[in-house]
Amino acid sequence: MMCVYRIEYQGVPRHVVEEGGRWRLVEGDIFARWTPGDTLADAPRHFLPPVLPSKIVAIGLNYREHAAEQGKAVPGEPMMFLKPPTAVVGPGEAIVLPGWAGRIDHEAEVGVVIGRTARQVGEADALTYVFGVTCVNDVTARDLQKKDVQYTRAKGFDTFAPIGPCIATGLDLGSPIRIEGLVNGEPRQSSSTADLIFGIPRLIAHISAVMTLLPGDIISTGTPAGVGPLKPGDLVTVKIEGVGELTNPVR
Ligand code: MG
Repeated sequence: MMCVYRIEYQGVPRHVVEEGGRWRLVEGDIFARWTPGDTLADAPRHFLPPVLPSKIVAIGLNYREHAAEQGKAVPGEPMMFLKPPTAVVGPGEAIVLPGWAGRIDHEAEVGVVIGRTARQVGEADALTYVFGVTCVNDVTARDLQKKDVQYTRAKGFDTFAPIGPCIATGLDLGSPIRIEGLVNGEPRQSSSTADLIFGIPRLIAHISAVMTLLPGDIISTGTPAGVGPLKPGDLVTVKIEGVGELTNPVR
């Protein structure tokens, strides 16, 4: 298993790979042709978002208990919406609460990073289009979500899409992947991809029937029960086994 990070190296954003505690620069395009380059003398301490996606396709109401806590019926097919790439921030970057927008919630989610162009992909070979897995916090302006016909405003504020810390490759997506959401170290959300109503292959097929997924695009697979409001000063963490922890301060 290999983890792909992005760091600032000599003033330039670069992908690096970590395997067995060894950190190496990536020479070339991590989604196409690349070779491992120089080994870093020390483990990096600050990380950029592991990828800048052309889009984040997020899935609503994909866990039964979360649909119930929102008072919504489970949808008959995956319900998708977009989060803009301008909402992306990396580990440690602040989630900025718009003071006028009412309640803002955390939503811990498993993010599936696409590895190659996917158009009208069938479920059977959908997983061959996956590059890896990352943590996503689908930060949501809950009051605006309830007020608006669609989710663009509620889901689209700058800083409302923390991702990272890395993209873990080589995870077995056929086995349950545990996901947790914590606020100030207190567990709030805990589930696994075994509880997804629509699994990852179905999501890739469903989305790619509509729009082309590009390398680096992220499917945020939905949040389990336990979402709740954030306030300035909070530290919010999304934790996925095999990927690590994505922690962001709130201000
Ligand atoms: Mg969500």
